Amino acid sequence: MSSRIKKRARIQQLPQSVSNCLAAGEVVGRPANVFKELFENAIDSGATQIKINVRQGGAAALIIEDNGEGIVEADLKYAPLRYATSKINQIEDLTCLGTLGFRGEALASIAAVSRLQIISRVKGVDDAYQLLRTDDAQWQVKPAHRLVGTTVEVFDLFYNVPARRKFLRTDSTELKHIEQSFKSMSLCCLDVELIFQNQDRVKHQWAAVTPEKPHARLQAVLGKAFADQAIAIEGQAPGLSVTGWIAPPTVSRSQPDAQYLFVNQRLIKDKSLSHAIKRAYQDCLIHGQQPMFVLYLTVDPDTIDVNVHPNKQEVRFESLRTVHNFIYHVIHQAIAQPIAVHTLAELKTDAFSPSAAVIKQPVQQEIKTHVSLDKAPAAVATVDERLPQETKAFQDSDSIGSLLPAQSHAPRREAPTINTPPSTALPPLGYALGQLHGVYILSENKEGLVLVDMHAAHERVTYERLKKAYASTGIATQKLLLPVHVTVTESEANLVEASTQVFLQLGLDLMCQGSELIIVRAVPAILKGTDVQTLVQAVLAEWSLHKTMDSIDTRINCLLSTLACHGAIRANRTLSLSEMNALLRDIEVTERAGQCNHGRPTVIKMTLKSLDALFKRGQ
Ligand code: ADP
Ligand code: MG
Repeated sequence: MSSRIKKRARIQQLPQSVSNCLAAGEVVGRPANVFKELFENAIDSGATQIKINVRQGGAAALIIEDNGEGIVEADLKYAPLRYATSKINQIEDLTCLGTLGFRGEALASIAAVSRLQIISRVKGVDDAYQLLRTDDAQWQVKPAHRLVGTTVEVFDLFYNVPARRKFLRTDSTELKHIEQSFKSMSLCCLDVELIFQNQDRVKHQWAAVTPEKPHARLQAVLGKAFADQAIAIEGQAPGLSVTGWIAPPTVSRSQPDAQYLFVNQRLIKDKSLSHAIKRAYQDCLIHGQQPMFVLYLTVDPDTIDVNVHPNKQEVRFESLRTVHNFIYHVIHQAIAQPIAVHTLAELKTDAFSPSAAVIKQPVQQEIKTHVSLDKAPAAVATVDERLPQETKAFQDSDSIGSLLPAQSHAPRREAPTINTPPSTALPPLGYALGQLHGVYILSENKEGLVLVDMHAAHERVTYERLKKAYASTGIATQKLLLPVHVTVTESEANLVEASTQVFLQLGLDLMCQGSELIIVRAVPAILKGTDVQTLVQAVLAEWSLHKTMDSIDTRINCLLSTLACHGAIRANRTLSLSEMNALLRDIEVTERAGQCNHGRPTVIKMTLKSLDALFKRGQ
């Protein structure tokens, strides 16, 4: 207590050396912050190559060299001054900003808490110049040597702020933070070659890539599985556009640490937009898993405020809701692509071919694919033609075909001929060869072998149909010949009483009969034949579980998912070939059929080439 500085009686303006140090605290918390600022400057300089060297986690030295436009001799002494910038002239310039920097305070902040030096040379001038501080803390410029571009050297970070220096973690932890920043930032300059050295030894060397061929950079930052299977995104709306890549739901992380969202080239953190993306993956991801994405959102600079925080990691949108909905919509549609264009790849081994080219097509094309499939299910028509009797019989059987109100099958019966492929063409998932251990369907298609987890796939097909029906005509119900009595707890009975209407909308006609008994009078037609008691108990358990937490939409989806699980064919049920084929056709036209409702893959393709490799044929 006694060591506290007593409150002064008079106000005084602090000397600049002190105020600079205080201000630096906002921008420079740890070496990774310094790295980010210097790296941004290098990108803004138009460099095509940036070299980084880190010593002792950045505390001893952080050196960034670029081959950009450089700083003219006369300007060098202004670079480390607060609010000195070449990027804006007036506040209105923020509405048409084309650079990452604009506040003109990074170098000033860094210079306040380290020993900073800059060497720079501009095009057309023979000499380079060095900016350094003299012993009496004056900036001095003198001739030096280097090619066109700039080298910024930061030594002894926080040498004069012991409190900050004390809080630095181990060198390797600080290095990790710098590398994380390096990886993120490397995604906003794909066209720049990057060399990262630690203790003067090259750790990463990444060639420049193009957005058309981003594989190497994506692999370096997000790993091979992502790079191999990324789905290219392309979406547009008035005043908004988004490009980039997302992982299919079967490739995910347990942490949200592979999520990169750039707004007008700036890496930002935005809870609301992250939520939009997470929601787009809803019921496709394994519980608790996080999506992976690299998205570049471009908005009219006039509609955002970038000047929200000194570290520039946030922006404020004029209409966050519009942007939120836009992002959600684009990602949602990209994930909804039917299985026909989705290759598997859970099997993270080189023996299996990387994703098919079609998966890398821009989303627009995928959406088109989807739309045309919906309107004229050519493959389905072919099946109807080939297997008229059996398939029809199957459609009317209790498990797969009749699951839905007539509407979902209506297009089948139209059997459009215009788009029907020649009868030799195999549908994307081919024709069934048989069933393996009552769990998997084996099918042969043009590329090779297809394996389908029949319960998981059918669960997704049923779920999507239920969702569609719920949103449009309503879920068709089937009256039970004999109502079924189910014993429940008192609170479950109360739940039934309070939510009778909701259950009715879901095709379940439940009525309370006393405090611990309910009567089931009808179930969704799609589920006819399932064990009513187990079904109702599962539905009630699900409904009460989410009672307080989630939105009504989420709760309804959870219920539909529970219904779908009960309606889906169980393992060990023997299917006829035509039943298997009907399921394959259903999967082909069902959105998100590549994953079951819990995010596990439903279909795995093995190309002949990968099979040949397994058997070492032709080697
Ligand atoms: P800001 O980036 O917000 O303008 P900084 O303090 O980071 O502010 O940099 C101040 C100025 O120094 C920049 O506006 C730019 O003109 C110049 N500068 C800094 N780093 C570089 C670089 N690597 N290449 C060219 N110019 C640079
Ligand atoms: Mg800057």
